[in-house]
Amino acid sequence: MKAALLTVVNAQAGAHGPATGTSPAQARTSVNQVDLDAPLPGLDAALEEVRRLWLDDAVWFHDPAYAAHLNCPVVIPAVVGEHIVGAVNSSLDTFDQSVGATMIEQRLIRWVADRARLGAHADGVFTSGGSQSNLQALIVARRRTPAAPADRVRVFTSAESHFSIEKSAAIMGMPPEAVIAIPVDAAHRMDTEALANAIRRSAARGEVPLAVVATAGTTDFGAIDPLEDIADVCAAAGTWFHVDAAYGGGLLVSRKRRGLLAGIERADSVTIDFHKTYFQPVSSSALLVRDAAALQAVTWHADYLNPTGSGNPDQVNKSLQTTRRFDALKLWLTLRVMGPDLVGDYLDDAIDLAQAVHAAMAQMDDLEIAAPPHLSTIVFRYRPADPPEDAELDEVNDAIRSELYRSGTAMVAATSVNGRRHLKLTLLNPMASLEDILVIVAHVRRIGQRMTLLRRRSAATGSAHQ
Ligand SMILES: *Cc1c(COP(=O)(O)O)cnc(C)c1O
Repeated sequence: MKAALLTVVNAQAGAHGPATGTSPAQARTSVNQVDLDAPLPGLDAALEEVRRLWLDDAVWFHDPAYAAHLNCPVVIPAVVGEHIVGAVNSSLDTFDQSVGATMIEQRLIRWVADRARLGAHADGVFTSGGSQSNLQALIVARRRTPAAPADRVRVFTSAESHFSIEKSAAIMGMPPEAVIAIPVDAAHRMDTEALANAIRRSAARGEVPLAVVATAGTTDFGAIDPLEDIADVCAAAGTWFHVDAAYGGGLLVSRKRRGLLAGIERADSVTIDFHKTYFQPVSSSALLVRDAAALQAVTWHADYLNPTGSGNPDQVNKSLQTTRRFDALKLWLTLRVMGPDLVGDYLDDAIDLAQAVHAAMAQMDDLEIAAPPHLSTIVFRYRPADPPEDAELDEVNDAIRSELYRSGTAMVAATSVNGRRHLKLTLLNPMASLEDILVIVAHVRRIGQRMTLLRRRSAATGSAHQ
C-alpha cells in the first residue's frame, strides 16, 4: 500500500504539467509490449512498470493548467475512502454483504434528497455515473406508461442536454424521433413555451409523453433550465419531470448559489454526479426519486440473493447493478471531515474563478466568447482581427487544442457552437488562481497567432508559386 502511494506521489511530483502529450500509438505500443503471461518478480517491479506505462504520462486533473473536461481534483478524505472501499470490498447489493455500508448509503441518499427538498417519501441509489442515473430515470419513468409501445412514447429535452438522454432512449428500444429536442433561449436554457407547444403537438399526434428532462448545468455552457416553469408545464401535462443535475448538483451545498436550483424540489427524479462538483474520485453518482415506490421498476427477486418478503433492506432492489461498489463511503468521509459548506465553497470558488477569467477574456479582442459562464465553463474561440473565413478558423482552433496537448503545457476541451469549432475551459479546481488560468489563455492566443501567421505565409507563398 505504501509503495503504491509512493509511486503515485513520485509520479505527481515529477509531472511538469497536466499531460505529456503522448499519442495513442505511443501509449499502445508500450502497453502491448508487456507479456501478460510472464509475471514480474514482485510488486515493486510491477509498480515500476505501471509508472512507466501510465503514471509518467497520466493526465493530472489537479494541475491548474488542466481545464478540459468535467473532471475534478479529488479531496483527501474521499481518496482515503477509496482505498478502504477497495480493501474491504463490501458489496452493496444486499444487507448481508455490507451491513453498516447499506445504512451509510441510505443515510446519504436521505441527506441529498433532503438537500434537494424532495420530500419524506424520496429515495434513491448510488450509481456508476450520470449516464447510468439518467438511463435509470427514464426506465423508472417508463413504468408509468407500460401500455404505450416504444415507438409512441416521447422524451422532451433541450437541444443542449447530455447525449446520454438520446443514448438511453435508444438503449430502451425507442426510435430516434422519440427524443424531441426543445430549442434553447439566448442563454442556452430550454425555452419553456416551446416545450409546452411541443408537448401539445405531440399529444395531438397521439403520442405518449414519457418524461421531460431538464438540465441543471449543461455540459458545455453550464446553463440551468428554468426548473420552476418546466415543473409547471410537467404538472399541467401530467408528465414525469427529471432533472439532470450531474454538473449543477454541487449547488445543493453552495452557500452562495443554492438558489440557482430553485424548482428542483418539484422533480420526480434527479441525477447528481458527486464525481464532478463534490470533488469525489470516479465513480460516485446517484439517482434520486421523489416517490420511493418508483424504484420498483428495477426490482427483481432472486431466491439466492434477495428472496421476496425477506424484509432485508437490500439496495439491489433499487439498482440496475447487482454487485456494487461502496462509493458512498467517499462522500460520507468527505462530509464528516470537511462538512458540506466547504465542499460548496470549493464549487463557488471555481464559479467565481470562471467569472473573473471571463471578465479578463472579454477584454481581449482576438477572443470571441460564446456566452457568459453560468457555472464554471467558458466557451470561446480564437478569432483575430481581420479573421480568416470560418472553415479556416475551425482548423486554427483545432490546432490550438492539439498543440496545447502535444506540448503538455495545458489542456482545454473542444466543442462546436452553431456548427463552428470552439474551445472550452472547464474550471473545477478550487486551488487554481486567476493567473494560472490566464497563462492558459495566453498560450491559446500565442499559438493562435502563430498558426494564423503560418497559414497566411504559406497561402502567400502558395499563390506566388502558381
Ligand atoms: C457528465 C454529465 C453526464 C454524464 O455523467 P457521467 O458520470 O459521465 O456518466 C450527464 N449529464 C450531464 C449534464 C453531465 O454533465
